[in-house]
Order: sequence, then C-alpha cells, then structure tokens
Amino acid sequence: MRHVIWDWNGTLADDLPTVVECVSESLAAIGEGPIVADDYRSYYTRPVRLFYDRLLERSVTDSEWQAIEETFHIRYREAAKRVPLATDAVAAIEAVAGAGNTQSILSMWWHDALRAEVSRHGLERYMVRIDGNTKDASETKDRLLSIHLRAVASNGAVMIGDALDDAQAASALGIPCVLYDGGSHHRVELESAGVPVASSLVEAAEVALAT
Ligand SMILES: [Mg+2]
Repeated sequence: MRHVIWDWNGTLADDLPTVVECVSESLAAIGEGPIVADDYRSYYTRPVRLFYDRLLERSVTDSEWQAIEETFHIRYREAAKRVPLATDAVAAIEAVAGAGNTQSILSMWWHDALRAEVSRHGLERYMVRIDGNTKDASETKDRLLSIHLRAVASNGAVMIGDALDDAQAASALGIPCVLYDGGSHHRVELESAGVPVASSLVEAAEVALAT
C-alpha cells in the first residue's frame, strides 16, 4: 500500500494563469513590465526572490522585494478563490483512493488559505492530512515534508509535485517523487531532477503507485 503526498499549487490546483497574472501585477508595483506563462515556467525557482532576480537580470532591492511580496500575496489570496482544479485532479485522486491507498496534501502555501481551497473543491474527504505553511516565507519544503511524514506515519510515502523543490525535498527525506509537467516548470527542466516526469495527474498517480 502507498501513501501519496500531493503538492497543491501547479499540481492539483491549476493556478499557472493566476500566478502569471499576480506576478505581472507585482512587477507593475515596482515599475516593471508584465510576463507571460512561458517566462514564468522558464525562470521560476525558489527562493522566490531569486526568481525575480533571474527574470529582471538584476538583483531586486529590499524595498522592491517588499512591494513584490505584498502585492503578490494580496492579489493571489483574492484570485485563488477562482482557481480551478487541474482537469484530471479528481480522477487521479479517485484512482489512488480506489486502489486502497492513502493520500494527503503538503503545500508551501499559507495553511488556512490552503485548507479553505481544498474544502471548496470537496477534497478533504480523500485526505488523511492537509499541511500548509504556518511559518513565514523562509519556510522550506524539506522541513515541512519532514514534519508531514512523521504525522502521516507511512512507510510507503511517495510525492507528486510540479517543481524541482518537490523532488529535492523528497530526495532529502528519502522518499520517491513523480513530477507533473503541467505546472510551474517546463518538462525539460523537470527531467534534470532524475525522477519520473508525467504529462497528466492520472499518469503521475499510476507511476507513483508503481514505484
Ligand atoms: Mg507546486
């Protein structure tokens, strides 16, 4: 039996268009022009401040970073209420549940906002645990995953995410990971992580259950 740990943003939640819109609004707040989805997928990295440095090909100043963070969080929190699930998110979750496995959600997003969104989409009943960020922007996926793993107490844990830090966190904690290419990174970049890459969530679930 496996325990699947789902990432939320860019994985179960199809928020790329919303994120791109909010990044563009954050850039406008410091007098810079907007981006398109392809820019986001090419430059996105963590820590997020480095993403803006890469995007602008310069270091953002502390006051610019503050303006970016404030704008993004205000805009995203509002816009998140309209973010849809990925097309096959429910099918993938049901495939995991139907095979007698357990599952949970682990996200770097703010815990209360995450819980509200998971509940809005009716997914709570499938999840044995839902953990978001209760600390601040300095939180890391490694640390959250180590706490999450202790709480779900499963030997057969496997992660499904859309970003390199999902794969890095899984590797640091010694569990397998499958990456989904419909989110924040291009497939070619995900392939550099050395873990399986799936082009749909149903495929990611199948691969994860077979690991
Ligand atoms: Mg993600």
